[in-house]
Amino acid sequence: MVSAPSGAGKTTLCDRLLQEVTGLAYSVSCTTRHPRGAEQDGVDYHFLDECEFRKRIAAGEFLEYATVHGNLYGTLRDSVASSLESGQSVLMDIDVQGAAQIRERLATSPVDDTLRKAFVDIFIEPPSLDALRQRLMGRGEDPDDEIERRLAKAASEMSRSGDYRYHVVNDSLERAYEKFKSYVLNEMIQT
Ligand code: 5GP
Repeated sequence: MVSAPSGAGKTTLCDRLLQEVTGLAYSVSCTTRHPRGAEQDGVDYHFLDECEFRKRIAAGEFLEYATVHGNLYGTLRDSVASSLESGQSVLMDIDVQGAAQIRERLATSPVDDTLRKAFVDIFIEPPSLDALRQRLMGRGEDPDDEIERRLAKAASEMSRSGDYRYHVVNDSLERAYEKFKSYVLNEMIQT
Protein backbone atom coordinates (compact mmCIF):
# COMPACT_ATOMS: atom_id res chain seq x y z
CA MET A 1 0.00 0.00 0.00
CA VAL A 2 1.36 3.39 -0.98
CA SER A 3 0.54 6.86 0.35
CA ALA A 4 1.98 10.22 -0.62
CA PRO A 5 1.08 13.88 -0.53
CA SER A 6 -0.30 15.17 -3.79
CA GLY A 7 2.59 16.13 -6.12
CA ALA A 8 5.18 13.83 -4.51
CA GLY A 9 5.48 11.78 -7.70
CA LYS A 10 3.54 8.73 -6.57
CA THR A 11 1.63 8.21 -9.84
CA THR A 12 4.82 8.26 -11.93
CA LEU A 13 6.54 5.79 -9.57
CA CYS A 14 3.52 3.46 -9.39
CA ASP A 15 2.87 3.47 -13.16
CA ARG A 16 6.48 2.52 -13.88
CA LEU A 17 6.47 -0.19 -11.23
CA LEU A 18 3.28 -1.73 -12.62
CA GLN A 19 4.81 -1.83 -16.09
CA GLU A 20 8.05 -3.44 -14.94
CA VAL A 21 6.99 -5.87 -12.23
CA THR A 22 4.96 -8.94 -13.12
CA GLY A 23 2.56 -10.40 -10.61
CA LEU A 24 1.60 -6.98 -9.32
CA ALA A 25 -1.99 -5.78 -9.83
CA TYR A 26 -3.24 -2.25 -9.29
CA SER A 27 -6.26 -1.88 -7.07
CA VAL A 28 -8.61 0.46 -8.95
CA SER A 29 -10.33 2.62 -6.34
CA CYS A 30 -13.80 4.15 -6.47
CA THR A 31 -14.13 7.91 -6.27
CA THR A 32 -16.77 10.60 -6.51
CA ARG A 33 -14.34 13.08 -8.07
CA HIS A 34 -14.62 13.78 -11.80
CA PRO A 35 -12.11 12.29 -14.26
CA ARG A 36 -9.06 14.49 -14.99
CA GLY A 37 -7.29 14.67 -18.35
CA ALA A 38 -7.05 11.27 -20.04
CA GLU A 39 -8.24 9.25 -17.03
CA GLN A 40 -10.47 6.32 -17.91
CA ASP A 41 -13.32 4.82 -15.96
CA GLY A 42 -12.42 1.35 -14.70
CA VAL A 43 -8.70 1.91 -15.35
CA ASP A 44 -7.64 4.89 -13.23
CA TYR A 45 -10.70 4.87 -10.98
CA HIS A 46 -14.27 3.66 -10.93
CA PHE A 47 -15.96 7.06 -11.16
CA LEU A 48 -19.21 6.98 -9.18
CA ASP A 49 -21.75 9.58 -8.14
CA GLU A 50 -22.14 10.15 -4.42
CA CYS A 51 -25.42 8.21 -4.23
CA GLU A 52 -23.85 5.09 -5.78
CA PHE A 53 -20.76 5.45 -3.57
CA ARG A 54 -22.92 5.66 -0.43
CA LYS A 55 -24.90 2.58 -1.52
CA ARG A 56 -21.63 0.69 -1.70
CA ILE A 57 -20.61 1.94 1.74
CA ALA A 58 -23.93 0.68 3.12
CA ALA A 59 -23.43 -2.67 1.40
CA GLY A 60 -20.04 -3.02 3.13
CA GLU A 61 -18.16 -3.20 -0.17
CA PHE A 62 -15.20 -1.09 0.94
CA LEU A 63 -12.12 -2.29 2.75
CA GLU A 64 -11.66 1.38 3.65
CA TYR A 65 -12.97 4.71 2.45
CA ALA A 66 -12.26 8.35 3.24
CA THR A 67 -13.00 11.88 2.16
CA VAL A 68 -9.94 13.42 0.49
CA HIS A 69 -9.91 16.99 -0.89
CA GLY A 70 -13.73 17.03 -0.60
CA ASN A 71 -14.36 13.80 -2.55
CA LEU A 72 -14.98 10.23 -1.44
CA TYR A 73 -12.40 7.55 -2.25
CA GLY A 74 -12.61 3.85 -1.40
CA THR A 75 -10.93 0.50 -1.98
CA LEU A 76 -13.15 -2.39 -3.04
CA ARG A 77 -12.76 -5.32 -0.69
CA ASP A 78 -13.62 -7.99 -3.32
CA SER A 79 -11.24 -6.73 -5.93
CA VAL A 80 -8.27 -6.80 -3.50
CA ALA A 81 -9.28 -10.23 -2.17
CA SER A 82 -9.64 -11.80 -5.61
CA SER A 83 -6.22 -10.53 -6.76
CA LEU A 84 -4.57 -11.86 -3.60
CA GLU A 85 -6.37 -15.20 -3.91
CA SER A 86 -5.17 -15.56 -7.50
CA GLY A 87 -1.59 -15.23 -6.23
CA GLN A 88 -0.99 -11.65 -7.30
CA SER A 89 0.39 -8.89 -5.12
CA VAL A 90 -1.76 -5.78 -4.99
CA LEU A 91 -0.62 -2.15 -5.20
CA MET A 92 -3.10 0.09 -3.38
CA ASP A 93 -2.93 3.89 -3.54
CA ILE A 94 -4.59 5.07 -0.35
CA ASP A 95 -4.41 8.30 1.66
CA VAL A 96 -3.22 8.40 5.29
CA GLN A 97 -6.77 8.14 6.70
CA GLY A 98 -7.60 5.01 4.68
CA ALA A 99 -4.20 3.53 5.56
CA ALA A 100 -4.96 3.99 9.26
CA GLN A 101 -8.33 2.24 8.82
CA ILE A 102 -6.68 -0.74 7.16
CA ARG A 103 -4.02 -1.02 9.88
CA GLU A 104 -6.70 -0.92 12.56
CA ARG A 105 -8.72 -3.58 10.80
CA LEU A 106 -5.72 -5.85 10.27
CA ALA A 107 -4.65 -5.53 13.90
CA THR A 108 -7.78 -7.45 14.93
CA SER A 109 -7.99 -9.85 11.99
CA PRO A 110 -6.81 -13.50 12.24
CA VAL A 111 -3.04 -13.92 11.84
CA ASP A 112 -3.56 -16.12 8.77
CA ASP A 113 -5.73 -13.47 7.07
CA THR A 114 -4.44 -13.14 3.49
CA LEU A 115 -4.32 -9.35 3.53
CA ARG A 116 -2.72 -9.22 6.98
CA LYS A 117 0.08 -11.52 5.86
CA ALA A 118 0.64 -9.61 2.63
CA PHE A 119 0.28 -6.07 3.93
CA VAL A 120 3.13 -3.60 3.75
CA ASP A 121 3.00 0.20 3.70
CA ILE A 122 5.25 2.65 1.89
CA PHE A 123 5.21 6.44 2.21
CA ILE A 124 6.52 8.52 -0.68
CA GLU A 125 7.50 12.04 0.25
CA PRO A 126 8.91 15.11 -1.45
CA PRO A 127 12.36 16.30 -0.27
CA SER A 128 10.67 19.31 1.39
CA LEU A 129 7.44 21.30 1.42
CA ASP A 130 9.20 23.99 -0.61
CA ALA A 131 10.11 21.46 -3.29
CA LEU A 132 6.50 20.28 -3.29
CA ARG A 133 5.27 23.85 -3.74
CA GLN A 134 7.57 24.26 -6.77
CA ARG A 135 6.30 20.99 -8.28
CA LEU A 136 2.63 21.81 -7.76
CA MET A 137 3.15 25.27 -9.27
CA GLY A 138 5.14 23.75 -12.17
CA ARG A 139 2.30 21.31 -12.99
CA GLY A 140 0.10 24.34 -13.64
CA GLU A 141 -3.03 22.25 -12.90
CA ASP A 142 -4.27 24.00 -9.79
CA PRO A 143 -5.07 27.59 -8.82
CA ASP A 144 -2.98 29.19 -6.02
CA ASP A 145 -5.55 28.63 -3.27
CA GLU A 146 -5.81 24.93 -4.21
CA ILE A 147 -2.01 24.66 -4.06
CA GLU A 148 -2.01 26.20 -0.56
CA ARG A 149 -4.74 23.73 0.49
CA ARG A 150 -2.72 20.79 -0.86
CA LEU A 151 0.44 22.03 0.89
CA ALA A 152 -1.34 22.27 4.23
CA LYS A 153 -2.71 18.76 3.69
CA ALA A 154 0.76 17.54 2.70
CA ALA A 155 2.25 18.88 5.93
CA SER A 156 -0.35 17.02 7.96
CA GLU A 157 0.10 13.82 5.90
CA MET A 158 3.89 13.99 6.29
CA SER A 159 3.48 14.25 10.05
CA ARG A 160 1.97 10.74 9.89
CA SER A 161 4.74 9.19 7.81
CA GLY A 162 6.13 7.51 10.96
CA ASP A 163 3.18 5.07 10.79
CA TYR A 164 4.67 3.58 7.60
CA ARG A 165 7.27 0.85 7.45
CA TYR A 166 9.12 2.10 4.35
CA HIS A 167 9.91 5.64 3.24
CA VAL A 168 10.96 6.87 -0.17
CA VAL A 169 12.12 10.48 -0.50
CA ASN A 170 11.52 11.53 -4.09
CA ASP A 171 14.54 13.81 -4.53
CA SER A 172 15.75 12.22 -7.74
CA LEU A 173 13.18 10.21 -9.70
CA GLU A 174 15.62 7.48 -10.69
CA ARG A 175 16.97 6.98 -7.17
CA ALA A 176 13.50 7.07 -5.67
CA TYR A 177 12.22 4.55 -8.20
CA GLU A 178 15.04 2.07 -7.52
CA LYS A 179 14.41 2.30 -3.79
CA PHE A 180 10.66 1.96 -4.22
CA LYS A 181 11.04 -1.04 -6.51
CA SER A 182 13.51 -2.76 -4.19
CA TYR A 183 11.12 -2.43 -1.23
CA VAL A 184 8.23 -3.86 -3.23
CA LEU A 185 10.27 -6.72 -4.73
CA ASN A 186 11.68 -7.59 -1.34
CA GLU A 187 8.19 -7.91 0.09
CA MET A 188 6.82 -9.80 -2.90
CA ILE A 189 9.54 -12.44 -2.53
CA GLN A 190 8.81 -12.93 1.13
CA THR A 191 5.03 -13.29 0.75
P1 5GP B 1 -6.24 11.97 -6.81
O1 5GP B 1 -7.62 12.55 -6.85
O2 5GP B 1 -5.19 13.02 -6.93
O3 5GP B 1 -6.09 10.82 -7.76
O4 5GP B 1 -6.06 11.34 -5.36
C1 5GP B 1 -6.24 12.13 -4.23
C2 5GP B 1 -5.90 11.34 -3.00
O5 5GP B 1 -6.80 10.25 -2.84
C3 5GP B 1 -4.50 10.73 -2.98
O6 5GP B 1 -3.93 11.06 -1.71
C4 5GP B 1 -4.74 9.24 -3.07
O7 5GP B 1 -3.76 8.51 -2.34
C5 5GP B 1 -6.08 9.11 -2.41
N1 5GP B 1 -6.78 7.88 -2.80
C6 5GP B 1 -6.86 7.30 -4.02
N2 5GP B 1 -7.58 6.17 -3.96
C7 5GP B 1 -7.95 6.02 -2.66
C8 5GP B 1 -8.69 5.03 -1.95
O8 5GP B 1 -9.17 4.04 -2.49
N3 5GP B 1 -8.88 5.23 -0.63
C9 5GP B 1 -8.37 6.32 0.04
N4 5GP B 1 -8.59 6.41 1.35
N5 5GP B 1 -7.65 7.27 -0.58
C10 5GP B 1 -7.44 7.12 -1.92
